[in-house]
Amino acid sequence: MSKKYSHVIVVGIDGAGSFIKDAKTPVFDQIFKNGAVTYDALASNPSISAECWGSMLLGVGPEVHGLTNQVVSENPYPTNSHFPTLFRRIKEAYPEATLGAYCNWSRINTGIVENNLEVSHETGGDDALTPVICDYIRNQKPDFLFIQFDSVDSAGHRNGYGTPAHLQRISEVDALVGDIYNATKEAGILEDTLFIVIADHGGTPPDEGGRGHHGGWSVGERYVTFAATGRGVAKGTVAEMNVRDLAAIVLYAFDIQTPEFCEKGWTSQVPEGIFADDSLPAYRDISHLTGAAPRVSKEPHTSELV
Ligand SMILES: [Zn+2]
Repeated sequence: MSKKYSHVIVVGIDGAGSFIKDAKTPVFDQIFKNGAVTYDALASNPSISAECWGSMLLGVGPEVHGLTNQVVSENPYPTNSHFPTLFRRIKEAYPEATLGAYCNWSRINTGIVENNLEVSHETGGDDALTPVICDYIRNQKPDFLFIQFDSVDSAGHRNGYGTPAHLQRISEVDALVGDIYNATKEAGILEDTLFIVIADHGGTPPDEGGRGHHGGWSVGERYVTFAATGRGVAKGTVAEMNVRDLAAIVLYAFDIQTPEFCEKGWTSQVPEGIFADDSLPAYRDISHLTGAAPRVSKEPHTSELV
């Protein structure tokens, strides 16, 4: 095996959807100015946190992994599942790997990540957790680090998604992303890091009570941001993508073989437009598995019903 990157850092921004493109995000814009970006990646359906984060870390859809917010709140993720997380796949390939999961929504640390892999984890509010994460990066130089910020989703629930208050919180979290990026630089590992920002789902405009929701399949709920930068990442727009593809992207970075594609199992693929690698298989349309209509066009929002 020869790793394409020694380090992968994923910053997950819960509830940011595709609204990052509407918010002031100078840090994001700078970090990914030469990176691969899309605001049209598809969430998992239903567009709920456990379903979406579970899909990203497991490479399978919600109908396969069965995780819901209640399930992950009440049960540790089985250590012998047929569908191991990225953490277990990386640990099995590289037993010495340093792994971290730093999630504001602590249910990811306990209900999605196996508890027997020596994954370093902490939880806390986004602002308080960030310096802890930065220290961890500088001191431990993790091979794989998964971060989840939750305050943007809270702002969406409180005010409606896409509202000034929601966009303002995205801008504030943008600064935290900058802190993490700078810590990666200070750790001396940036040149050998695949750095990713991804959202799990978006949400709805405010209802009569002024609150936002998600779980449905409206445009605001189902489209999310994905951005990657690192040595060899193509500059431009990522083509068709589903959040579950994060798993295949991370395995590709570590040169770990992906399981065979199977509609009842592993459906994670490396989207076109991230890595210039002709040996990658053509991207399969899985929109019939996600609740979206079949793709008919390469224009933005390519999985929309037409
Ligand atoms: Zn969420």
